[in-house]
Amino acid sequence: MLRIRRIYDDTVPSNRDRIQQVQAILRTRFSAVDETEIASLGEKLRNPFKQRFRSILLVAETLRHRVLGFALLLHEPEIGFSFLDWIAMAGGRAGGGTGGALYDRVRMEAVALGARGLFFECLPDEADPCPEPALLKENRARLRFYEQYGARPIVNTAYETPVSEKDSCMPHLVYDRLDREGPLRRAFLRKVVRAVLERKYAELCPPEYVEKVVASIQEDPVVLRSFRYVKPEAAKTTVDSRSADQIALIVNDRHIIHHVHERGYVEAPVRVDAILKSLEPSGLFARMAPRPFADRHVTAVHDADFVAYLRRACADVPENKSLYPYVFPIRNKTRPPKEPSVLAGYYCIDTFTPLHRNVWPAARRAVDCSLTAAREILDGRRLAYALVRPPGHHAERRSFGGFCYFNNNAIAAQYLCAHGKVAILDIDYHHGNGQQDIFYRRSDVLTVSLHGHPRFAYPYFSGFADERGDGDGEGFNLNLPLPETLDGARYREALAKAIRRIEQFAPQFLVVALGLDTGKGDPTGTWSLSPEDFAENGKMIGALGLPTVVIQEGGYRHRTIGPNAHRFFKGLVAGGQQWAERRKTPGTRLHGIVKRYDVEARDAERIKALVRITGFFNPAEVDVAAELVQERLAKGAGSGYDFILAEHYGRLAGYACYGPIPGTSSSYDLYWIAVHPDYQGKGLGRRLVTEVERLVKQAGGTRIYVDTSQRVQYASTRAFYESCGYSLESVLSDFYAPGDGKVIYCQTFT
Ligand SMILES: [Zn+2]
Repeated sequence: MLRIRRIYDDTVPSNRDRIQQVQAILRTRFSAVDETEIASLGEKLRNPFKQRFRSILLVAETLRHRVLGFALLLHEPEIGFSFLDWIAMAGGRAGGGTGGALYDRVRMEAVALGARGLFFECLPDEADPCPEPALLKENRARLRFYEQYGARPIVNTAYETPVSEKDSCMPHLVYDRLDREGPLRRAFLRKVVRAVLERKYAELCPPEYVEKVVASIQEDPVVLRSFRYVKPEAAKTTVDSRSADQIALIVNDRHIIHHVHERGYVEAPVRVDAILKSLEPSGLFARMAPRPFADRHVTAVHDADFVAYLRRACADVPENKSLYPYVFPIRNKTRPPKEPSVLAGYYCIDTFTPLHRNVWPAARRAVDCSLTAAREILDGRRLAYALVRPPGHHAERRSFGGFCYFNNNAIAAQYLCAHGKVAILDIDYHHGNGQQDIFYRRSDVLTVSLHGHPRFAYPYFSGFADERGDGDGEGFNLNLPLPETLDGARYREALAKAIRRIEQFAPQFLVVALGLDTGKGDPTGTWSLSPEDFAENGKMIGALGLPTVVIQEGGYRHRTIGPNAHRFFKGLVAGGQQWAERRKTPGTRLHGIVKRYDVEARDAERIKALVRITGFFNPAEVDVAAELVQERLAKGAGSGYDFILAEHYGRLAGYACYGPIPGTSSSYDLYWIAVHPDYQGKGLGRRLVTEVERLVKQAGGTRIYVDTSQRVQYASTRAFYESCGYSLESVLSDFYAPGDGKVIYCQTFT
């Protein structure tokens, strides 16, 4: 069995292990690769804009976590292309199933990122530049493989020109159009080639070389080599976009055995059918079978003695009988009572959640479903839904209750958090006390819950706004208790707050605990959300653009839970599409940016961190950035340093520092401008420049100067100033160091 999984960063041990295996493959397969480049792989993933590309690492591994191959994809969001940096198999087993599966996944990722094309290099398959027979054979096999996807080398450009005389056998630049219609345009390719040469080969390619290659791209549209190995009509040019389109649906196939016949026990089997009936005709879902997972996933969030008790107690209850807790020995946690019926209360929070024979198998299967959904997400799907009962969000580390036995959403979150940060958003009518309890002291899982205020709603003892987490987890639990009567509009105000907190947390995965008991007429709720409200809520959550596992919690009005669930998922998909569209449009305007002009003491550290993470400045320069803040704080406007800080929901997204140049009548200097990598490519830098210009003009200024380095690494900075209307005023050769001049730009107002 082979699995392909994305490695997000090197902050968790299992990912570090995969990265080490990838590094081992790199070392054995490509002896020429520089060791510092190999060593920096983890850092590249963590700090995506270190190289001014977002790096995406995909590994193909066995179920025993042995990495068989990997692909490293670089993505450029502003120009809108992906570059396949490496694709390699352990032991050199090129081609075959693993390479094909990896390349399919690379194409899927590139499409999901909104790439207008996938580019990569391939060594030539002609004997002329490549005289070595073994290598030639390998190169031919590789180009044949890519031709099956319609990907072919770009011809009639100088891309293959040797950089120095000793270079031979230069690679072709290959273009895979993915699922795009239309030809490859000259202007786009020029930008792509410039970005690749200037960023990836900054150390190798001198500026003259870059200019020469870019200028050699003359034909429009650009011409690709004709098919050499594959019949054009046989090429598979569509991309498997399953991951973006269909929601994996995993239904608990063993839920029906869990049926409590008592009157008023609203958590009934019919709920699942009511929901399924509305979802199935929609075409939004791909049904999948649940897969078994080991008990250790359960004990990762629940106490082992609690789990052992549930298993034993369920087996011990006589057939067709239910055991209801009726004594709650809360006073002495260290001395569990012996009497089985009393022991139930030792592990339970209420009197209406019984144990019986089928609780264990049904609840345990719901866990498997939730983990299957989480696993689908790890395997690259964007959305997965575990339609399960019994629900889980009231189950705490060592207790069950509220119809819940195992906390399905917490177990899924725990499973995912081995691969990156997770946020749980609980939108059931009742407070998600279970996951709050389980993650209360942790900062790697954010728990957010919107619910009826505990003053009138179950579980009554938790869900208050001042429960914010504890220790490391302080600030990582957000409760939004809401009033007894509530309409959709007011609900969305709270949901917007929850979403802002999640954005700020910047998780890799989202788990949604979906309760449908917020709907109008629910017997356990008091609110009046309509199907349209569910669609809107789904849209808002989908627009987060996160890989999302939805897990079913409450919802008891059989007539409406189906349509409401259906509308929610339609909204979720639409929100995700909106998000993807936004990413496809370069320079999309950011919403929610707030500008601030007064620096505060804490800004010195924040600006330092921001400047550092851009990767453009040396430590001394980083210190200077912070010192200017101190200067401003000490001397006020007299310091000569003015600031504009751009904040996105409390997070510093970018800033500019400028001021009048002493001894001039109306000239200003733009000293600093920096944008956090997460906000680059969204037009924020330009907005900051425009704001500086507005304020300078207002203050009577007529000229703004800005300077930067002549080095090739700063080419994009120079291009940025030029695109903002700044003109090159002067170059001071060898100013910073021999070969590294200072370039001065100026903007003038009349
Ligand atoms: Zn509920």
